[in-house]
Amino acid sequence: MLEQFYPKRSQGGPSMRLTILILCCLCLNSCGAFQWGYFSQKREIASLSAQHLLREDQHHFEDRIQDKLQSLHSYYVIGQKNLAQFDELLKSNELNKVYESETYLNLIAVRTQAEEIEHELIELWQESKKIKSRSPVGQNLILKIQSFAGQSEEAMMSMENLLFALDAKIPSPKARKGLNRKVDFIQEYKKLEGTTEFIIHEKNIEHLSHMLENRVPTLSKKFYPSTTKPGNITGNEFPAKVWSLTFDDGPAKGTTQTILRNLNDRKLKATFFMLTSQAKALPSLVKEIKELGMEIASHSYTHPQLTKAGPLTIEKEVTQAVKDLEQISGKKMKFYRLPYGAGVSSAIIREKIAANNLIHVFWNIDTLDWMAQPSEKIVERTITLMKKTPRDAGVLLFHDIHQRTADATPQIMDYLKKDGRRVCTLDEIVTQINEDAETVCPK
Ligand SMILES: [Zn+2]
Repeated sequence: MLEQFYPKRSQGGPSMRLTILILCCLCLNSCGAFQWGYFSQKREIASLSAQHLLREDQHHFEDRIQDKLQSLHSYYVIGQKNLAQFDELLKSNELNKVYESETYLNLIAVRTQAEEIEHELIELWQESKKIKSRSPVGQNLILKIQSFAGQSEEAMMSMENLLFALDAKIPSPKARKGLNRKVDFIQEYKKLEGTTEFIIHEKNIEHLSHMLENRVPTLSKKFYPSTTKPGNITGNEFPAKVWSLTFDDGPAKGTTQTILRNLNDRKLKATFFMLTSQAKALPSLVKEIKELGMEIASHSYTHPQLTKAGPLTIEKEVTQAVKDLEQISGKKMKFYRLPYGAGVSSAIIREKIAANNLIHVFWNIDTLDWMAQPSEKIVERTITLMKKTPRDAGVLLFHDIHQRTADATPQIMDYLKKDGRRVCTLDEIVTQINEDAETVCPK
């Protein structure tokens, strides 16, 4: 049925195919890990590329920004297509089949690419604030993004995460063209699919998704830091009706606080997988999370894709991230989650996690809340996924940096409180499973 919505693009003649192939090879090989232009996509040197950009003349600068926004939009359009396919797959497949599907891997791949661009633009905005002579750049950048978002409802959705992260105003519905028109990513996909840039982006996603994990990790009965099964929690091992709520990528002002309030109102405890960079910027919020009895865990320093990183980066993103987060929070870390969940099968990465005395935490419910969508979609998808787990148990993955997540989670929290389900922190669940407790995570 989806084939009907997303017909295979016309193949073009041999010369067209050759051009595409050459362009793809250029993009995939000469630019290394999917860089384009000379802008590195590695976060640790993103500020360097921001400085490059800031040195561009006005005209070039605007072109570059426009290209980046277009790429970001393309990735999200590919993401929205896959999100629709994911929800379609959910209707008639088991959980494992859904997570092993190319569609799910494509979604993770889209996220890595979209976030790299977003991060680079955020970095650019931060850099521009430091350079007085080019101070209009930051404002210019925001205007550019707002103007891009104003093109259509679909473009608006692609810019949503970026505008939110920059604390920038979302163009009013009045200023947005296509007002009152239903959001239609099928049409948007058809509009873009013929362009060379879009084809390259799709090839990138295809290639990247093949590099990602597609096996649901096998289960262990007990847990301890290890590179083997006991060192990785998925939630599929949990006893019946035991759930763990996890929130990644924060803490963030506003959204994390709303989530905290909603948890506290319902006397629920969750685990916050923090980025040390975020925790450093908002130590009082970390304190608030701790004082409310929530669990704090590590989710790296700056959220790079570690399968692409060298040993020094891995050291910083695991060992240093944990050490600094322990100092900020005054808590000993027991759990770690890899950015994008990428690297669970990498011996080097898993060794580093185990060497720091940490258990890795995967998930069995991916809410896919990182992509722009109505919050009701997140609620609906999450509950559908939860119903598909064999024992009505597991680990729920959310991101507390999005407004839509703050909006969707109260309903999911209410669902979790019904029908004898129990919600606990990972530490409580793991300790009790390891101790063979009669009832794990009692109310
Ligand atoms: Zn993350």
